[in-house]
Amino acid sequence: KLASREFKPERTVIRVHGLEIGGDQVQIMAGPCAVESREQLLETAHIVRNAGATILRGGAFKPRTSPYSFHGLEEDGLKILAEAREATGMPIVTEVMDTKSVELVAEYADILQIGARNMQNFFLLREVANTNKPVLLKRGPSATIEEWILAAEYIMAGGNRQVIFCERGIRTFETATRNTLDLSSVPLVKSLTHLPVIVDPSHGTGKWALVTPMSKGAIACGADGLMVEVHPRPAEALSDGPQSLTEENFTKLISEVETIAAAL
Ligand code: PEP
Ligand code: MN
Repeated sequence: KLASREFKPERTVIRVHGLEIGGDQVQIMAGPCAVESREQLLETAHIVRNAGATILRGGAFKPRTSPYSFHGLEEDGLKILAEAREATGMPIVTEVMDTKSVELVAEYADILQIGARNMQNFFLLREVANTNKPVLLKRGPSATIEEWILAAEYIMAGGNRQVIFCERGIRTFETATRNTLDLSSVPLVKSLTHLPVIVDPSHGTGKWALVTPMSKGAIACGADGLMVEVHPRPAEALSDGPQSLTEENFTKLISEVETIAAAL
């Protein structure tokens, strides 16, 4: 298998705009759940960059549980993300939801995100395999480790070897948190594959107060990076406000995570 350590013993390092994902440095991807407006995205981009984030996240196409929720600004959102990249120098990671928009999203994004709900959308996996962009592959809400690695295998077998795993929590009997963040997947997937693994404690917990503790845990477990939702005014967020960090909380997260990373 292309993802396995037997096939490739040395670790894969993915390079984006001079940054290394899977290298010695932890990469922090941060930004709002959704691109809501030009002002909101640019404000958030500057907040996260100044706090120490290295990659900007933000959804232009949003998978929502309810058909009546905000679904994103689509191409206008992609244009705003590109403007924020110009303004801050940060590369952008954004979700592509279906095969027909892969070409469009790949024109703007530096990293293509496959959402948890699409982890086993094999046509979509094959389509992103045809691009030359790194792919951030979220773990499906009910996916086993084996299924997750095989989803990466689809992308690699299709010709794109640049896959980043993202643990974002799984569905269990527990309802006190939005998902159950499976940090054991970090060392496990890193022992089974040569690919980078990052953690999304925002969707992994659904609660902003749990995001920093779980981020520290993720880095202690060997994660190559984090994906964190930040909003200048979480109470006004159009999606995922309850799990979004303010500027102050995100700044604290970075300093606590740096202490853990330095101790490894
Ligand atoms: C996201 O990161 O914007 C997102 C929708 O996450 P997930 O696919 O993990 O639910
Ligand atoms: Mn979200």
